[in-house]
Amino acid sequence: VPELPDVEYFKRYIDATSLHRRIERVEVRDRRVLEGVSPRRLDRTLRGHRFASSRRHGKHLGLRVGADGWLVLHFGMTGEPKAFEGAADEPPSTQVLVRFAGDRFLAYVSQRKLGRVRLVDDFTLFVEERRLGPDALALDLPAFRRLLAGRRGSIKSLLMNQKALAGIGNVYADEILFQARLHPKSCVGRVRGERATRLHRAMRRVLGTAAERKADPARMPRSWLLPRRDEDGSCPRCGHELATVKSGGRTSRLCPACQQQA
Ligand SMILES: [Zn+2]
Repeated sequence: VPELPDVEYFKRYIDATSLHRRIERVEVRDRRVLEGVSPRRLDRTLRGHRFASSRRHGKHLGLRVGADGWLVLHFGMTGEPKAFEGAADEPPSTQVLVRFAGDRFLAYVSQRKLGRVRLVDDFTLFVEERRLGPDALALDLPAFRRLLAGRRGSIKSLLMNQKALAGIGNVYADEILFQARLHPKSCVGRVRGERATRLHRAMRRVLGTAAERKADPARMPRSWLLPRRDEDGSCPRCGHELATVKSGGRTSRLCPACQQQA
């Protein structure tokens, strides 16, 4: 499931492959991924323009279309962008295809049609209207402390609540809590002082490092939980057997020895 590091990597990938190219047309293969825009209007709005710049907020990626608005991509459960040359190389499960001059393409690919493609006037306004919290990678320590203050519930729920903090899903929430040595069910109210500092530092480190490593589990450091969360593994720090805790339909992986409940 694409989380902040995946979408940050997608942003860098699109920046490197697809900015500043003249758009010849846009073909929609499955209109169910479109939200609030018809295939015809999408094509008419983008045609003849170029993607001038990109912005990411949490799991949303915005591509600026000339002066006329933003194409906003959300990748759902399985989505990803694919840039390629030559129409014959179109990937399977392409939902929306942007054709550039020079026989170059950018495909929005999604096996399950849970992603969303939108056209909005203003990316900042879009983020505000959806009431998304601040981007998890952009948040400094004082702002993070303010976010924690006065909140209830478990720390993991807070990290994953997109209206509080945008970008983190189940896998990276587990990794951040593992590195901060905090149990996912710890009460937010008890994450204060040094614990809050440790959590913030782990959040920045995990999200930044994962984005640099293309959000690829095989490239993550051996000291991380992520490469071994899907196996019957042991803790890379202390060797204790990893535990699985289910709550609210989510499966948390953690080390019961290293991660104390606060
Ligand atoms: Zn451990």
